Formats: sequence, structure tokens, C-alpha cells
Amino acid sequence: MTTRKILVTGGAGYIGSHVVLDLLEHGWSVVVLDNLRTGLRKLLPRNIRFVHGDAGDTELVAGLLQSERCRSVMHFAGSTVVPESVTDPLSYYRNNTAVSRNLLAACQLAGVDSFIFSSTAAVYGNPETLPVTETTPTLPITPYGRSKLMTEGMLHDVAAASHMRFVALRYFNVAGADLQGRSGQSTPNATHLIKVACEAAVGKRPSMAIYGTDYDTPDGTCIRDFIHVSDLASAHVAALDHLVHGGDNQVLNCGYGWGISVRQVIETTERLSGRRLDVVNGPRREGDIVSMVADGSRLRRVLNWSPRHAQIDTIIGSALEWERRTA
Ligand code: UDP
Repeated sequence: MTTRKILVTGGAGYIGSHVVLDLLEHGWSVVVLDNLRTGLRKLLPRNIRFVHGDAGDTELVAGLLQSERCRSVMHFAGSTVVPESVTDPLSYYRNNTAVSRNLLAACQLAGVDSFIFSSTAAVYGNPETLPVTETTPTLPITPYGRSKLMTEGMLHDVAAASHMRFVALRYFNVAGADLQGRSGQSTPNATHLIKVACEAAVGKRPSMAIYGTDYDTPDGTCIRDFIHVSDLASAHVAALDHLVHGGDNQVLNCGYGWGISVRQVIETTERLSGRRLDVVNGPRREGDIVSMVADGSRLRRVLNWSPRHAQIDTIIGSALEWERRTA
């Protein structure tokens, strides 16, 4: 059997680079397309086929898919900071929605048959009940969530009108780093909680803030379902496997099914690093969901996937290790 080849947009980014490592380990041949606006070439193995370019450049992507004979695409390229989407919505509709539209046009031209999309729990907005299942109403409250939900809509429509099939993976809060130290989160000006806490723990920032301590939760801070980036990566490889073996379209939550508060993240980071963080209790941040926890049972059932790094100590410990390594 010939090795199948896949195009990975945004493959030099935090999540994309971990997925590339896993794809290579599973025998896939990988072509990465990344504009390196937030991605880093050094997160990828040297010998990989890398193309510097934009996932929204239909002509470039269609040509690449055809010349490389790729029938599968994973689409990570996009913008990922919820509060930034509130202040700069049109960048999100361009980078997440319009780019996806142009990429799908290229996929149609090149006859791509399997497409994996990075969606988000932000499509649910502030859910009335937890945990959220894939049938929980999608009522996003931010441009980020809306920009991703619109792409999910396009995927359903394109799949109905062609032979392309897709899996949209709705990520909960992704954190941690490759346990072999090959990749981690190096995005500049990071805003995500575990990254920020780990930066504070290794002295890369003097202090950090908790955005809101008066929420209606046990300790007053927001609650999230954190998933280790390597577990998320293996879900992608399983989703691809599902599609290339004829599996149907799927929308799947990617979370473990339990919630951890912002304060618990900070306490765990302090315990694992042996350092007290300078933490300021700040006001609420616009666009924040109070509590978000996945019902991840469908992912386990449909893809026969199970997590391997679900302990919060492993998630934060690996993120800390990456922060030390890249000091
Ligand atoms: N958060 C915080 N301080 C920070 C970064 C994040 O208190 O420096 C909180 C944020 O308000 C939210 C949670 O941590 O309640 C998760 O935020 P993050 O930006 O990591 O991910 P999101 O859930 O917004 O995608």
C-alpha cells in the first residue's frame, strides 16, 4: 500500500505541530502549509515538506493538493484568542471563516475526500446545562465562536453537495506539551491560562491576573475542561482513520468530561513549580464563558479513542517543562 499524504494547514502552530508528529508516527506523509504569522518552523521536524503560504490562497492550495496528490486535509490555520475576537471581529471572520471558504474551494478543485476541521467549544456559548453534548444548542457569544460555527455550516453544505466527508473536532481548552519535548506552546504574547501561569512560574512574566473571582462557581472563578495537546492530536489521527475507512461526517467534542477552575490551575502550577505566583484578582474579561465541560463520550465511542495524559498534573507539568526548556 502506498503511503497516504495529507495537507496540514497551520501545521507549524501549537496544536498543528503536535498532530504532525502523531501523523508521522502513524505512517502518514505530511505536507505543511503555514504562513508563519504565529506558527514556528522549528516546531516541525527538519525533513518535512513545508510550504510557506496562506491557507486562503485557493490557487496556491489547489495547485499544491494536485501536485502532491493529497486527498486529505487537516485545517488548523486560524486565529484562536477569544477576547481578541471581541475587539477585532473582522480579522476572525477573515482568518477563520473566509480562509476556510477559500480552502474548501481549493479542496473541491483538487477532489479532496476527507477534511478534518479545528472547531471549538465556543460554539456553545454559555450553555444552560453541563456537560455539553454535540446536540446542545450552538449559541456562540463571541466572534470567535461564530467564525468557527460558520465554517462548520460550510462543511455540512459542501459535504452534502460533493463526495467530501468531514470531521469537525470541537476543542475544549487545549494545554500541555509533547512529553518528549519536541513541541509545545510558543505563540508570542500568549493569553491562554495554563501558558500564562507557566510563564509566571518560570519568571517570564512578573505576575498574572485572574479575570473574575465572583462567578457563580464553587471558588468564584471560571471552570474549563482542559485536554492535553497530545491526546487531542491522537483524536485527529483517529478521526482521519475514520474518514479514510469510509466513516461518516462527525462533529465531536474533544474534552475529558470534568472541569477545573482557574484557581485550581494556579494552585497546581504553584505546587508543581514550587513557586508562589504573584496573582492579582482582576475584573471579568469580556466574552468569557462561566463554565464549560464536555460530554466527550461520543468521541470515545465513534473513534474508539481514549486519553493517555488526562491528569492535570501531566498537562501543567509538561507545559512547565516546555517553558523551562524554552527559557
Ligand atoms: N484566565 C485568567 N487569567 C489569564 C488567562 C485566562 O483568569 O491570564 C481565565 C479566563 O478568564 C477564562 C479561563 O482562564 O476564564 C480560560 O481562558 P483561556 O484564555 O485560557 O481560554 P478560553 O476558555 O477563553 O478559550
